[in-house]
Amino acid sequence: MNYENSLSFARSLDQKDHLSSYRNEFHYPKDDHENELIYFCGNSLGLQPKSASKQMDKEFSMWSKMGVLGQEERWIAYHEKLTKPFANLVGGKDTEVVAMNALTVNIHLLLISFYQPEKRKIKILMEKDAFPSDHYAIQSHIEFHGYKLKDILIEVAPRVGEKVMRDQDIIDLIEKNSEELALIYLGGLNYYTGQALDIEAITSIAISKGIKVGFNLAHSAGNVPLELHDWGVDFAAWCTYKYLCGGPGAPAGTFIHDRHHDWKGPRLLGWWGHNKESRFEMPSLFDPIQTSEAWQISNAPIMGMAPLIASMEIFNQVGMSSISQKGKQLSSFLEYVLKNTLPEVNIITPKKRGCQLSIAVPGGRDVFNFLHDEGVVCDWRNPDVIRVAPHPLFNSFVEIFRFVQILKNAIEK
Ligand SMILES: *Cc1c(COP(=O)(O)O)cnc(C)c1O
Repeated sequence: MNYENSLSFARSLDQKDHLSSYRNEFHYPKDDHENELIYFCGNSLGLQPKSASKQMDKEFSMWSKMGVLGQEERWIAYHEKLTKPFANLVGGKDTEVVAMNALTVNIHLLLISFYQPEKRKIKILMEKDAFPSDHYAIQSHIEFHGYKLKDILIEVAPRVGEKVMRDQDIIDLIEKNSEELALIYLGGLNYYTGQALDIEAITSIAISKGIKVGFNLAHSAGNVPLELHDWGVDFAAWCTYKYLCGGPGAPAGTFIHDRHHDWKGPRLLGWWGHNKESRFEMPSLFDPIQTSEAWQISNAPIMGMAPLIASMEIFNQVGMSSISQKGKQLSSFLEYVLKNTLPEVNIITPKKRGCQLSIAVPGGRDVFNFLHDEGVVCDWRNPDVIRVAPHPLFNSFVEIFRFVQILKNAIEK
């Protein structure tokens, strides 16, 4: 698409945008003088859908009026309201997805099952620049099996002088170490650089070499199109408070490919993973649900899920194809306006990405503070990176144009 670096052009993009009205479905943050902020932090905490409080009220009212009878009415199957939307979100079957727990907790549950070192096949490949929680989780499982981190971990990183990884380097590393790798665990889209990995290609090589492969989709789910079932990914997990607007600490999502549903390996068990027909007969012998729900442990946090159900209704209505398309347009327009206004700004994020751009700015922290004072909400990552993530459901092209003008003032100051 041919862009122009002007406010009127940004307005024309907003006029053509089929998703522009969805902004009204969210509470949009304002400053002390009731002016709308420029909220580019959807990658950190998505905004609150206006329908969220209605969903909450329904459950509060049910609880107050009916007490435990509410359980019979609806709470036993409440998490199932998220099944269809989650399946659509990540390209999974209904049986392959489940909403439960928090992201890192789910990663632990999945690693218990899917990291099964044996004989020579004991190593784990992950990103050197993964999110800290991923490093900690992987470390726990390596030590849990009695190994030392340095003997197990193979880390993939950008080449010297480069900012992002090459998919081919990951694939070469897998091929080189295929005899020793038990697990490949990667972020689908890196939280710091905004780089999207080629999940399909990585999964395909992993499967051909008999290596389990799982992805942390914290920054992919709700941002880029995913086809986890068709790609053959073994497992994945994602949080729902970032792009997915489920609210702070909202329950996370999990995907387990259906070829694993007749699972005979290790798994942490709880009564919510037990066959629904006989669960309340309170048997002491575990009979697993023959879906990803078998990995559930406890009954679902209804009050945490209510706002997520509200936001997933919006996602389901719009569809990931429109959402990811607009996300791409937002980041390309941002890239274009940045390059034409501030050539000195270094964009780290490669073309394979979603809606987030990570930019290294001259002036660093002072520039970030200036942006903050001018009503721009984005985030700062040491040593010099500002992450800017316009959200397809509530941000506009005009905001992108305005943001770059404010950034220009900030750098000139
Ligand atoms: C946000 C994020 C997390 C957060 O983990 P929680 O368990 O939800 O606190 C973990 N991993 C990645 C890659 C993230 O981006």
